[in-house]
Amino acid sequence: QEQVLKPVARLLEEGQFGVFLLHGVTGSGKTEVYLHALSTALKTGRQGVAMVPEIALTPQMIDLFRARFGRKVAVLHSALSDRERYVQWLRVKSGEAPIVLGTRSAVFAPLPRPGLFVIDEEHETTYKQEDHLRYHAREVAIKRAQLTGAVVLLGSATPSLESRLKAGKGLVYRLLELPHRIDHKPLPEVKVVDMRREIKNGNRGIFSQALTEAVNLRLDRGEQILLFLNRRGYATIVVCRECGLVLKCPRCDISLTYHLDNRLRCHYCNHTIPAPGRCPGCSSRYISHFGTGTQKVEEEAKRLFERAGIVRMDSDTTTRKGSHERILKSFREGKADILIGTQMIAKGLDLPKVTLVGVINADTTLHMPDFRAAERTFQLLTQVAGRSGRGDLPGEVLIQTYSPDHYSITAAAAHDYEGFYKNEMRVRRALGYPPFSHLALLLFTHEDEDEAKKGAFLAQEFFVKELLNAGGQIDLLGPAPATLNKIKGRHRWQLVLKGPKRNSLKELIREFLDKLETIRPAFKPVVNVDINPQGML
Ligand SMILES: [Zn+2]
Ligand SMILES: [Zn+2]
Repeated sequence: QEQVLKPVARLLEEGQFGVFLLHGVTGSGKTEVYLHALSTALKTGRQGVAMVPEIALTPQMIDLFRARFGRKVAVLHSALSDRERYVQWLRVKSGEAPIVLGTRSAVFAPLPRPGLFVIDEEHETTYKQEDHLRYHAREVAIKRAQLTGAVVLLGSATPSLESRLKAGKGLVYRLLELPHRIDHKPLPEVKVVDMRREIKNGNRGIFSQALTEAVNLRLDRGEQILLFLNRRGYATIVVCRECGLVLKCPRCDISLTYHLDNRLRCHYCNHTIPAPGRCPGCSSRYISHFGTGTQKVEEEAKRLFERAGIVRMDSDTTTRKGSHERILKSFREGKADILIGTQMIAKGLDLPKVTLVGVINADTTLHMPDFRAAERTFQLLTQVAGRSGRGDLPGEVLIQTYSPDHYSITAAAAHDYEGFYKNEMRVRRALGYPPFSHLALLLFTHEDEDEAKKGAFLAQEFFVKELLNAGGQIDLLGPAPATLNKIKGRHRWQLVLKGPKRNSLKELIREFLDKLETIRPAFKPVVNVDINPQGML
């Protein structure tokens, strides 16, 4: 940690602008680095902001900051009332609270002389605000730091491809690494369970034999278990349970999703095929729709592990205020043996008695119809695995999947970020996805499906003409119904533009929006433009 801190401290003392990417494995003490760097900023007479993805998930972080800086900390997040926010804002502005801890909007905190901007888990999508005023906290922080001669410290166990690329040799960011856990505690041992074999052995249940045995072993020893399930997919993917084949769009390499008219569709370019009754790879009949809910996992766990105390944490069980903390507290106190949950349990939790993490199904994330699916899978598996073995007992992780050979799963199992990075960059380059290009997502919404669709096709007509004139470079995908094709009574169609230059995409879209006025009233839907969206659902 000291080695990592030196270059940061030097820049802080010199009052120079700089961006650092701190790549540290889970449990390597990144938070300690942030606290030290913030202290250094204070010593130079300046202030600092530390941002976390979601404040509700990090009461432990708030405690750490208060323990270190006491009343000097202001906490800013979206759950504050206007009045509370105003009070905190004043404390920051007056210099009474020179340390700010908050979510993405804290990047705008009115520090008199900002010296340091810390962004923890910089790869998280929550740093981008996607409605109203669109901004990415990372970009704002870098701009502010440039203007004021401050330092930006981005931290993650799984840096975003964009950031890692910029931290290459001789490039904009400087890379700092913490490759070991504190006190050289080992990273958990990760095993990949091939679910195709379970089917062959006649086990059609949710739990593989290996996971069942591992859970029983922990129950015998009185240790705790986390069972992780990705939030139920928005999209229904079709997977062969015997050979693991997933049907993908030949053009976009995106998983096709199942629709009630018994067809499979690509939500980028609208390529459709009839849903096959047998696997085109191995002609198995076990080709089925995917997605198991936490409730179903809970039912089966109760049946399999009768003696265990089981609690579940997902959006259904945490709707009431404080229920999130209550469930965690009782689990930490040992009132249950097994905690079943979604994304909520993946991040930042320190549960020392957990020695086994079971990932029920890695494929729901892996086959999301989104070009970032592999990256999200690697991030999620790394985060989840990081929950295991944080106490004195060594940890183990079991990942159940029908794609045991996929590089994002094998790399996560080997704790090999660089291996994942190289593979994924190769794929992105080959397909021309970011960070090798920029994407613009145009969303057309209307209460009437036909109007949304008509608008999308009118837009397509415009772009096709413009692109012919411009010649090459920019690619047009769609129109197609969005993966989430109806939200709050509005139908959604989308168009994707892909090109090497962000500005030329922006210009083209501006021209389109200008022209819109002239083609109304034929064009009715609301248009929403998102450049480099974090998700493509
Ligand atoms: Zn098959
Ligand atoms: Zn496609």
